[in-house]
Amino acid sequence: MAAPTHMVLARKYRPQKFKDVIEQKMAVQALQNASLSDRIGSAYIFFGPRGVGKTTIARILAKRVNCTSPEGNEPCDQCDSCLSILHGNSMDVIEIDAASHRGIHHIRELRENVKFQPMTGKKKVYIIDEVHMLTTESFNALLKTLEEPPAHILFILATTEFNKIPETILSRCQVFTFAKVPLSVIQNYLAQICEKDGIKAEEEALFWIARRGDGSVRDSLSFMEQAVTYCDKNITSEKVKELIGAVYFDLFLKITGMLLDEKGKPEDLMMPVHDFFATGGDITRFVWEYLDFLRMAVHIQNGTENTEFLGIPGTEIAHIKDGLEGVDPVKLNVIFHGIYNLLTKGMALRLRNSYESRVLIEMELLALKEKLFSPSLSGIIQKLNRLSTAMKDGTPYSAENELQKKFLGTVIDSKSVPELE
Ligand SMILES: [Zn+2]
Repeated sequence: MAAPTHMVLARKYRPQKFKDVIEQKMAVQALQNASLSDRIGSAYIFFGPRGVGKTTIARILAKRVNCTSPEGNEPCDQCDSCLSILHGNSMDVIEIDAASHRGIHHIRELRENVKFQPMTGKKKVYIIDEVHMLTTESFNALLKTLEEPPAHILFILATTEFNKIPETILSRCQVFTFAKVPLSVIQNYLAQICEKDGIKAEEEALFWIARRGDGSVRDSLSFMEQAVTYCDKNITSEKVKELIGAVYFDLFLKITGMLLDEKGKPEDLMMPVHDFFATGGDITRFVWEYLDFLRMAVHIQNGTENTEFLGIPGTEIAHIKDGLEGVDPVKLNVIFHGIYNLLTKGMALRLRNSYESRVLIEMELLALKEKLFSPSLSGIIQKLNRLSTAMKDGTPYSAENELQKKFLGTVIDSKSVPELE
């Protein structure tokens, strides 16, 4: 049986030429220039987060250096060498996963093999993935090869953890840093794939998928595969939100609204919590999803509307803005810290099940609501101090007078300023 299309997206669209690589312009350009002028070094370190193109670029470089009829700074993808690398059966391109080959005997074997000339191509290329996993002994053995590399050898060491690579190794390599890919770039890339693959997808749905990928093209594509399966080639924003849990926005809007509604009934605050646990949520998810929501809410209330920065599409920003109209960002911050404390308590109590978690969340939310409306001791002392100063001056104390003195000549909407104690 043929594999369904959605199973192969990441592999199907893996870039085969430098020009098709998404972002990473610095590394791509430098390597293309080096290819053209035949100044490829003997060892490179590709450092960056997972799924941003390190191995992809390493393979393209391996193809280009061994290509028998390169097209400018690109491999031809037609010659025997290119095709064998493309199919993963080249004898001259050796990929090693250092996570599972970290021991000294693996590196000793490698040191023996680098002596031999390449079978067909010009260079023998070693791509060592997750190179930071090598043991100290292995790094020392690798260093000896890097110190006197045979002319026919090219090392490409890929890593997500730069600080774990010994200085001695770093000093023998050219280092390229790979960045996370911006959300909007991944979103556009996904849209292109949808078009090529005949997948129907809402623009906002692709935004959510790209957001989930968190700067990694590979992760975004594998999440897109899940979305294709879940949505049956018609990817809607609603469905994707169900998949990633963004549906909780409305629920958190409700909880926040209830917390800030002084006259609201306690059971109105409890219902959304009940709904959350009914959909299989747990305390960790509640806390982190809610904290994430509050972070966005605080920024939105402070006037931020940048979708890339907030990580949510424009429609959601508008929705949250509407839902929190007139809410003081300072109060949102108080809620943020209350929820964060909930996490600490939850961890200390070692809650055993979702019922216990729910009890803690409910009680903490009620206490938080009380805190939001009860005057603090320092607030009361400040107020007393101001009153006594006002009495000495003979002028009656009023918040309006105080404000007018502070913002002389500006029109003040009392709703938009923090409450004076
Ligand atoms: Zn070729």
